[in-house]
Amino acid sequence: MATADVAVMGGGIMGLAVAWALCRRGARVRVVEARRIGAGASGGVVGALVPHRPDPWDGFKAFQFESLMMAEGWWQAVTAAGGVDPGLARDGCLHPIADAGALSRAEARVAAAADLWQGRAACAIIPAADAGALCPSAPLGVVLRDDAAARIDPRRALAALAAALRARGAEIREGARDPGPAGAVIHATGAEGLAAAGPLAGRGVKGQALRLALVLPAGTAQLHAPGLHVVPHADGTVAVGSTSEDAFEAPDTTDARLDALLERAVAFCPVLGDAPVIDRWAGVRPRAASGRLLLGALPGRGAGRGAGYVANGGFRIGFGIAPLAAERLADLVLTGRADIPLDFLPNSSPGAGAP
Ligand SMILES: Cc1cc2nc3c(=O)[nH]c(=O)nc-3n(C[C@H](O)[C@H](O)[C@H](O)COP(=O)(O)OP(=O)(O)OC[C@H]3O[C@@H](n4cnc5c(N)ncnc54)[C@H](O)[C@@H]3O)c2cc1C
Repeated sequence: MATADVAVMGGGIMGLAVAWALCRRGARVRVVEARRIGAGASGGVVGALVPHRPDPWDGFKAFQFESLMMAEGWWQAVTAAGGVDPGLARDGCLHPIADAGALSRAEARVAAAADLWQGRAACAIIPAADAGALCPSAPLGVVLRDDAAARIDPRRALAALAAALRARGAEIREGARDPGPAGAVIHATGAEGLAAAGPLAGRGVKGQALRLALVLPAGTAQLHAPGLHVVPHADGTVAVGSTSEDAFEAPDTTDARLDALLERAVAFCPVLGDAPVIDRWAGVRPRAASGRLLLGALPGRGAGRGAGYVANGGFRIGFGIAPLAAERLADLVLTGRADIPLDFLPNSSPGAGAP
């Protein structure tokens, strides 16, 4: 087996994104996936790319926002290299406004977005009549619309990255756990990696979601309410997610919690009512103990041959945050430049080592 410059452990969105960022800069990359591409949390159905509410602003939100803003260019390069379209579109997101209190919070959010997003995207309070097919019930006749939000098809996104990597000569090994000969190893092993590293690194949080067969007009904005995403995709399906379960026995089964979520989605968006369910899915999100990403060099193993790095903890926003996380980690691995928020670094979370 030829020696790779970098072996990336894990074929989810974080591993593939980092592998791509390295590969496009000329590194010889090997992706090593224990099961198959998309076997973990990334193989799901939702694909909401929705920014955190801007107020109060912090470094993590700024990082997520930057990553969302670079999505089109970053994914276009992936598509150009491998020929697979990830199903990305920035069609915005609606947030319900249920009462006067919610309206004043929405007004504050519009003002904060105007200030903190610096004109690159905006929030606005719009008439419900203009909100599109997924408009939630609107007792005040208005909803909040966020133009920064996008959607991507998670499985197509992984297929797009895998195709781009193969087209650029990267090696992808599925059903393997041995990194093989490599100059550096990046651990992007999701919830399994966090579990192996221990509770000080993080833990898994189960989620369930589903897809409906329902064709909505092109450009329909998705809906987000606490604990609920309704996301229209280009292939004539609509995703509904997601439960959040700290305690669970089976990581990959769906149950009555998902039925209840669908009922709630239909109550918000009656247009979903008769659409057939075509896919029910569950996975375990990797949640870093810090509540941030885990991104950077492993303590004491950050440079030269045998260097070790981690890219994990994407939790609910792995797809949105992957482009910038991947580019910043590639900078660190290839040039030593560490433009990564300090609270993402593994050594800022005691015990957050690699498995
Ligand atoms: C129900 C649900 C809905 C979600 N909705 C959204 C959403 O709308 N938007 C969004 O941005 N995010 C969403 N997420 C979160 C997102 O899916 C995660 O943040 C993301 O998938 C994490 O990616 P990852 O690559 O870190 O982990 P994973 O996708 O879990 O990848 C880790 C991979 O590593 C492999 N592996 C483990 N151990 C080893 C080893 N020792 N050697 C080699 N390989 C190994 C695993 O098999 C796995 O394939 C959702 C998650 C769930 C569960």
